Amino acid sequence: MSGDTIFDKILRGEIPSKEIYSDAEYYAFADIRPQAPTHVLIIPRKPIPKVSDATDADRMLLGGLILRANEIAKQLGLAEEGYRLVINCGHHGGQEVYHLHLHLLGGRQMSWPPG
Ligand code: AMP
Repeated sequence: MSGDTIFDKILRGEIPSKEIYSDAEYYAFADIRPQAPTHVLIIPRKPIPKVSDATDADRMLLGGLILRANEIAKQLGLAEEGYRLVINCGHHGGQEVYHLHLHLLGGRQMSWPPG
C-alpha cells in the first residue's frame, strides 16, 4: 500500500534506522543489507511508490534527490574515487520496497552489467 511501506515506517520512527542525512524533504539511512562498503538509501519524504509514478510536478524533487546523493557522497569521502547511484523500478527492475529510493553505493570497484 502506498504510504505504508517499511520506509514510511522508518520515516515515522516506527522502525529504527541509521541516519546519514535528514532535511525537510529527504531522509538518508544505511541499507540494512549493504552491497558495498558504503550503501546509503536516500528517500524523498513524499511517498512516490516507483520512479515511473513521478510526474512533471516532481521535477524538483527528483533533481534534489540526486543532488543530495552527491552531497552525501562527498561527505562520506566517495567523490574522488566515484560511486554508483541506482534506482530500481518495478518487478524486472528488482524493486523490493515501493517507496521511491536512490541507492548510493561506493567504496569498491563496480562492475557492468549489473546483475
Ligand atoms: P530495492 O530493491 O531497490 O527496493 O531496495 C530496497 C533496499 O532496502 C534493499 O537494499 C534492502 O536491503 C533495503 N532495506 C530493506 N529493509 C530495510 C531496513 N529496515 N533498513 C534499511 N534498509 C532496508
